[in-house]
Amino acid sequence: MKIQAALLHAPGIPFSIETLDLEPPRAGEVLVKIAAAGVCHSDWHLMTGATAHALPVVPGHEGAGVVVAVGPEVSRVRIGDHVALNWAPSCGNCFYCLHDRPSLCATYIEPIWAGTMIDGTTRLSKGGVPVYHFSALACFADHAVVPEASCVPLDNSVPLTVAALIGCAVTTGVGAVLNTAHVTPGSSVAVYGAGGVGLSIIMGAKLAGASRIIAVDTHEAKGPMAQSFGATDFLMGGTDTVASIRKMTEGRGADFVFEAIGLPAVQEECLAAARPGGTIVLAGVAPMGSGTNLPGAIITRQEKTITGTYYGSANPARDFPLYASLYQHGQLDLDNLISRTYRLDQINEAYADMLSGEIARGLVVF
Ligand SMILES: [Zn+2]
Ligand SMILES: [Zn+2]
Repeated sequence: MKIQAALLHAPGIPFSIETLDLEPPRAGEVLVKIAAAGVCHSDWHLMTGATAHALPVVPGHEGAGVVVAVGPEVSRVRIGDHVALNWAPSCGNCFYCLHDRPSLCATYIEPIWAGTMIDGTTRLSKGGVPVYHFSALACFADHAVVPEASCVPLDNSVPLTVAALIGCAVTTGVGAVLNTAHVTPGSSVAVYGAGGVGLSIIMGAKLAGASRIIAVDTHEAKGPMAQSFGATDFLMGGTDTVASIRKMTEGRGADFVFEAIGLPAVQEECLAAARPGGTIVLAGVAPMGSGTNLPGAIITRQEKTITGTYYGSANPARDFPLYASLYQHGQLDLDNLISRTYRLDQINEAYADMLSGEIARGLVVF
C-alpha cells in the first residue's frame, strides 16, 4: 500500500513528507493505522546525528492506533484493537526477559537498532529502495507495520492521543520513579529537565507521595508547567542550582535526583544534588560515545547510588494498562501533557516548538 510518512534522509536535513510503499505484515507482524504520534527528543537525536541510524529512516516511536490487518501467526491482537506501541518489544524467552528486564530484551535489540523488522528486512521502501524503521515502529506515518510484540491493547475508552504518550514519555518517566528508583512517600525529589519525560517523572513522584518535588529547567515557561504536574518548586538551571536544592532539603541534597536531558555535565551535577546515601537516576539519553565524569571517591564515601533507567524499566504489557487506568482515575494528568497537536506536514514546526521549550508535549494527529 501507499502511505504518507515523514522521512529523514540525513542528519541536519528537515523531515520531508513523502509517499512510500508499505508491504503487508509478515508472520508475527501487524498493520496499524496510526492515530497519534508524540514529538519526542529521541527522534530529534536522529536529526542531530547524536543517535546514528541507517538512512533514510521514518522516525516516530511514541504512537498509538488501530489494528487494521494482522499477518500469519499473530495471536495477541485482533483487527479493530486499539493499541499503544511499545518501542522496546520483548521476546519473553531470553535471559533479560526471564530476569524481569524486558526493556533490555536481547532478541529484538539488534534488528531494532539496524532499523529493520526482526527478520532483518524492511517493510518500507521507496522506488524499490529500502527505507528503515525507527524502533520497529516508524509511526510518523499514517500506517505502520510493527511487530505483534510492540502492540499493547488498551481499552477503547482511552483516547489514542493519551495512549501514544503512554508509549514513550509517560512510561519512561513514571516507570523511572516507580520501577527503577522506587521513590517512597515523603521523599525529596529533584528533576533536571521538564520536557515530556521530566514532567512524567514529576507526575510519578507525586503519585509515589514525594513531599518535595523540585523541577529544574533552563526555560522559564517550564516553571508553571512543572508546578501544574505536581512540582513544589521550580529552579532555573544555573551555577547555584545545587546550592538551592541543598537549601530546600535541610542542607543535605535530594533523596532522589533524576536527569531527564542526557547531558554529561548535568549528569555530573545530579551527583552533587543528591544527598549522601541518595539515588541518581539517569533517564535522559546522552549522545553515543559521550563520557560522564562521576567521581568514585565521592560515590564510595557518600554511598550514592547511580542507576540508568531505560524505558522506565517497564514491562509494557503490565504498565501501559496500569498508566491508562491511573489516567482514567484522575491520578495521572495526561491530558495536560498535550500542549499542541500538529498535522504530519507540520512536523518540522513541531520539532521547532519542542526545542523552544514552550510546550510540554507536541503530538502529530492523523
Ligand atoms: Zn521517546
Ligand atoms: Zn527477550
